[in-house]
Amino acid sequence: MNEGRIDAAVWDAFQLLANETRLKILYALWNAPEWTATFTELKEAVGMRDSGQFQYHLNELSGTFVRKTDGGYTHLAGGIALYRAMLGSVTGPESVASIPLDTTCSTCGVPLMLQYEHQVFDARCPDCEETASNAPFLRGGLENRSNEDRATAFDAWTRRLVALLRDGVCPWCASTVTHDFSAVEGDGTGSEGDEIHITHTCDRCGGFLRTTPVENVIDHPAVVAFCYDRGLDGTAIPHWEAAEYAAEETRLVSDDPVEVRITIRLAGDELTLSLDEEMRVRDVEG
Ligand SMILES: [Zn+2]
Ligand SMILES: [Zn+2]
Repeated sequence: MNEGRIDAAVWDAFQLLANETRLKILYALWNAPEWTATFTELKEAVGMRDSGQFQYHLNELSGTFVRKTDGGYTHLAGGIALYRAMLGSVTGPESVASIPLDTTCSTCGVPLMLQYEHQVFDARCPDCEETASNAPFLRGGLENRSNEDRATAFDAWTRRLVALLRDGVCPWCASTVTHDFSAVEGDGTGSEGDEIHITHTCDRCGGFLRTTPVENVIDHPAVVAFCYDRGLDGTAIPHWEAAEYAAEETRLVSDDPVEVRITIRLAGDELTLSLDEEMRVRDVEG
C-alpha cells in the first residue's frame, strides 16, 4: 500500500465515525459482554426503528471496526484499539507532583525527578536538566496508583515499548521499525567518550522513541546472567538507570554496516556485546 492509499483509508475510517448512529453502535459494543451483541440488542441500544437503515450503518462499520459472527456482531482489533486510545487519554490526572527516583544523576549526584506533563513522563536531573528518559504514558495509567507505583508502571510500560521497538515491531501500530544510531557529546566521531543514542521510528505511524544502547540489551541472557552472578537482578534495573552500567568504551564502532559495541561494567568485571543495525546481538565477550 502506498502512502496516498494509506492516507485515504485512514480518512475514510475517520469519516465512518462522523455519524451518531455508528458511534452509538460502537459504544454499545464496547459496553457489551466480551464486546459481542446480537443485531436486536444493538438496534435496541441505539434506539433505531428502521431495520434497513440500521443494517446499512452496521454494514458500513463492518470490516473496519466490527465484524459479523454467528451470534451477532463483535469488535475487530481496530475498534477496540480506538476505544482504548480514548479511554486511556481522556480521563485521569493531567499532572502529578514530581516523583523523586532512587537513581542519582551521574554528573551531579542528586536524585533524578520524574515529571509528568502533556501525557509524557520525563526522568530528569533537577540540577543539570539532563534527561534520562522521556516517553509517553496515558493519563488513565496514573489513576489508582501511588506516586511510587506510577514510577514503577511507567518503567514497566517503557521497557515493553523498548523491547518491541528493538525487535522491529511498532508498539503502537505493529508495523516495521527503522533504527538510527547517533553519537552525541565528546568529539562526535563515534570514538570513546561519545554517548550513543538510538532513535527507533515506526515506518508507518511515525511513532518514535530514543533509547540508550544498554536499555536494548538489558534483558539479553548474557547480561541477565552477568548481573545475577554479581548479585544484581538486571531485569529490575529501571530503564532510566540502564545507561549508568555502560562503560566509557561503549561506542559506535562502524557506521556502515552499523556496529555498536556495548561494554557493561559491574563489580570490576566487564561484559561486551556487539549490536548490528537490526538491533541483533552479534557477539558477546566477557
Ligand atoms: Zn545532573
Ligand atoms: Zn507505528
